[in-house]
Amino acid sequence: MIAVRLRSLAAIALGALFPSLGCSPALPSPRPDVETTNAPRPAPRWGIAIHGGAGVLDRASLSPEREAETRAVLAASLEAGHGILAKGGSSLDAVTAAIRILEDSPLFNAGKGAVFTHEGTNELDAALMNGHTREAGAVAGLRHVRNPITLARSVMEKSPHVMMIGEGAERFAEQEGLELVPERYFYTEERWQALQRALAAEKKAPPPQGKPQGFWESPAGRDHKFGTVGAVALDQAGHLAAGTSTGGMTNKRFGRVGDSPIIGAGTYADEGCAVSATGHGEYFIRYTVARDVCARVDYAGMTIGAAADRVVMDILVKAGGEGGLIAMDAQGNVAMPFNSKGMYRGYMGADGITSVSIFRDR
Ligand code: ASP
Repeated sequence: MIAVRLRSLAAIALGALFPSLGCSPALPSPRPDVETTNAPRPAPRWGIAIHGGAGVLDRASLSPEREAETRAVLAASLEAGHGILAKGGSSLDAVTAAIRILEDSPLFNAGKGAVFTHEGTNELDAALMNGHTREAGAVAGLRHVRNPITLARSVMEKSPHVMMIGEGAERFAEQEGLELVPERYFYTEERWQALQRALAAEKKAPPPQGKPQGFWESPAGRDHKFGTVGAVALDQAGHLAAGTSTGGMTNKRFGRVGDSPIIGAGTYADEGCAVSATGHGEYFIRYTVARDVCARVDYAGMTIGAAADRVVMDILVKAGGEGGLIAMDAQGNVAMPFNSKGMYRGYMGADGITSVSIFRDR
C-alpha cells in the first residue's frame, strides 16, 4: 500500500516536473475503482510567432533591397526566440529577446524606428504578459528607454504594479539600470518625413468636428503602415507568453496611448491562448481585441484560428478597425489574420524551419 502511494506521488512529481511530456508515467492506479488512462496526449508543439506591424504594404512601395532587409531582421528575431525555446528556456525570455531585436531595428515602428507624435517627439509603449501566471507589465509614453519591452518586464517582475507611464516609468528604468538614450536616438529621416506628410495632409483637410479622438486619420493617411512589433511563444513546459512594443501612430496627440500596452486590448496571454495585435489602436482598445480572441477560445471552445478570424476579419472589419494579430494556443497552433493589405509576420516551430511573410500570399 505504501509502495503504491509512493509510486503515485512519484507520478505526480514527475508530471509536475515534466508537464511537456503531456502524460504521467504509466503507473497502476492506486484506486482500482477509478479508471485512469495512460494514453499519451500529443505533446505541445513549442514555437514562436512574431509580427512587425500591419498596414497598407504595397509591393510597389517596397524595394527588393528593403524587402530583403526586412525579412532578414524578422528571421533574426525568430531565431533569437527559437534559440531560447530550443534550449528549454521560457516563452517569456523568447518573446523578450525576439522583440528586442525588432526594437533595435530602424525598420519597425518600435524602439529605434518609432514614429513621431504631432509635436515631433517619440513616445513609446510596450507590454508583456506571462500566460502561466497571468503576471503582466506595461509601460507607456517613454521618451528615453531604448528597449521598452525590457522595462515592461521589469515592471512585471520587480514592481508591485502592472502599468507605469511617462517620467515615473523612466525613473524606474533608471533605478533598474536599464539603458536610457537621448531623444535623438529615435530620429530616423523616414519617420520624420512621414510626420511631415501627415501634417501637410491635415492642413489641407482639417479633421472633422466632433471626432472623439485627439488623433485622426487624414484621407491621405490611408497609406500608412502601422509597424508595431510583437511576439507570442509556447515553451517546452507548455507555457504561453505574449508581448508588444510600439511607437504608436504617426501624428498622435497629447499623450495618446494605443492598444499595445493595454492588457486585453493589444496584448494578452493566459494558460490557453496568447495574442499580440497591431493596427488602429483605438478600435483594438474599444473591442478588447486580444482578450476577446482568448475568451472565445476559453468560453466558446473555438479554435484559435476561428476565434482570431472572427475578431479580425468580421468584428473589426464591420467596425472599421484596420489591422491584424498573431495568436497561439497551448498546443502551439498559430493564427495570423489581418484585414489590411499586408502584415510583416513569421513563425518558427520545433522543426527549426523559419517562415517569414509580408503580403497575403507570401
Ligand atoms: N496598435 C498601435 C497603436 O495604435 C499601432 C500599430 O499597431 O502600429 O498604437
